[in-house]
Amino acid sequence: MGRITLDKVTKSFGEVEVIPPLDLTIEDGEFTVFVGPSGCGKSTLLRLIAGLEDVTSGEIRIDGNDATNIPPAKRGLAMVFQSYALYPHMSVRKNIAFPLRMAQMDQAEIDRRVDGAAAVLNLTDYLDRRPGQLSGGQRQRVAIGRAIVREPAAFLFDEPLSNLDAALRVGMRLEISELHKRLETTMIYVTHDQVEAMTMADKIVVLRAGNIEQVGSPLDLYRSPRNLFVAGFIGSPK
Ligand code: ADP
Ligand code: MG
Repeated sequence: MGRITLDKVTKSFGEVEVIPPLDLTIEDGEFTVFVGPSGCGKSTLLRLIAGLEDVTSGEIRIDGNDATNIPPAKRGLAMVFQSYALYPHMSVRKNIAFPLRMAQMDQAEIDRRVDGAAAVLNLTDYLDRRPGQLSGGQRQRVAIGRAIVREPAAFLFDEPLSNLDAALRVGMRLEISELHKRLETTMIYVTHDQVEAMTMADKIVVLRAGNIEQVGSPLDLYRSPRNLFVAGFIGSPK
């Protein structure tokens, strides 16, 4: 569960085509990073996959099923927002449980899933606290917990670490990579940070002005960048 296919997907805002026809396959269980400069369409592409934006044309399939016109909550994907999207007046437990309460899940099942996510994220001792009583890293873990409890087919991250300081960012990168190893679930991670892309990805998708410049493993891109843009962006001397 968690194979995502984009077939000739385009997106325009008014007259402006932000994503020209684009084909992409994300394999089940893969950690894929979308990387590219600011404004190149990374967030738009992620939001199309999540269903937060409608495609202008083309098709999105999730595990073989046409998801193009399926609303976001029914795609079985979970978007991880930055930690500042937490509810300050709610406990950690209530923050993590929030999407399940919205879905009117049975309370015993909610408790089981929240306790499971808290254990995976080392938050068990913090469930009764409020976000304001946590460190930046712990707050980010709560935001991830809110995605885990939904047991999604894929996690979608949009620059989740960009408001953390440099040291914390390095730690959280490792934590997210560890989480990926443990859950073996598809993850799509958007960043403009080349180091993040090179250290976290199984597969990197390099974007420029909505076009895919190259897709490959970090080593592929490092050894054989297809053009000067990729070489310059990845930082290898071609
Ligand atoms: P990135 O995440 O790579 O920085 P975005 O996907 O946010 O880039 O934006 C890609 C382009 O689409 C930019 O030129 C941006 O101004 C434009 N764009 C994004 N969202 C909208 C919108 N809702 N309306 C109009 N233009 C938009
Ligand atoms: Mg963005």
